[in-house]
Amino acid sequence: MTTLMNPRWNGQFSCFDLVAKTDDCTRSIIRVADLEIGGNDFVVMAGPCAVESESQLMQTAEAVAEAGARVLRGGAYKPRSSPYAFQGLGVEGLRLLRKAREATGLAIITEVMSEEDVGLIAEYADIMQVGTRSMENYALLEALGKCGRPVLLKRGMTATLEELLRSAQIIAMSGNPDIILCERGIRTFETATRNTLDIAAVPVLKAVSHLPVIVDPSHAAGVRSLVPILSRAAAVVGADGLLVEVHPCPEKALSDGNQSLTFAEFRRMMGDLQPYLDLQQPLRQLRPQLVAAGGAD
Ligand code: PEP
Ligand code: MN
Repeated sequence: MTTLMNPRWNGQFSCFDLVAKTDDCTRSIIRVADLEIGGNDFVVMAGPCAVESESQLMQTAEAVAEAGARVLRGGAYKPRSSPYAFQGLGVEGLRLLRKAREATGLAIITEVMSEEDVGLIAEYADIMQVGTRSMENYALLEALGKCGRPVLLKRGMTATLEELLRSAQIIAMSGNPDIILCERGIRTFETATRNTLDIAAVPVLKAVSHLPVIVDPSHAAGVRSLVPILSRAAAVVGADGLLVEVHPCPEKALSDGNQSLTFAEFRRMMGDLQPYLDLQQPLRQLRPQLVAAGGAD
């Protein structure tokens, strides 16, 4: 694509040759069962922050599937800032995720925190999630290069886009080209939200990389009332999908209840998304011009 003329961006990102956009590779589509992430579908991944119990997970899986989600999220191994917080159900959580997949047909995404767990989690997960705190765990990234599953790589909360793509390059160099990038908010001086959703990350990443880009509005917002509007923003700027936290009873959630949507809120959000997705198409056409214009200053 000869319109990619921003010299700063080309210099900054083209060294990550396996993940940077080139004339020969402008878009990669990651296939998960019958889903095409990065293709024409807008793929919504939804579910609880953590798998807590069979009834919590099954109820949520059914509710999000009915509302149009295609992938069930849920952490079995949780990276918690406090050692006293709920750490996840471990392998029992993985078994429940498998059961939910059998019951609903949803694909499964779950977090992997350590290279030692990669083999086990790959037996249960359709997509391996790398959390913000693990974006620079190079031993983990290398192990994921050989896991045989697509990887959703979250941006580190203090990482630049260059650093995000550097981590993606490590996974690709280690043998796995199936990588989905995820913007989940970064640390800034702003305290009104848990993190600052860097909405510009989406068109920049789409301009410089061929990889799909997903937005996680939940961890960016930290509060459920902002999740639907940030999801609409993500749709408009060209994201390939969302990763959203949903819980049957958010006030009782063992983690991230404040930012989890109720079933009714999630259903409403999904129902309201289409007009914003319709706006995405014309903006896709504008994207290369946006890059060319960026090169002029
Ligand atoms: C999560 O998805 O629940 C999670 C821990 O996300 P992050 O790594 O973005 O904080
Ligand atoms: Mn969470």
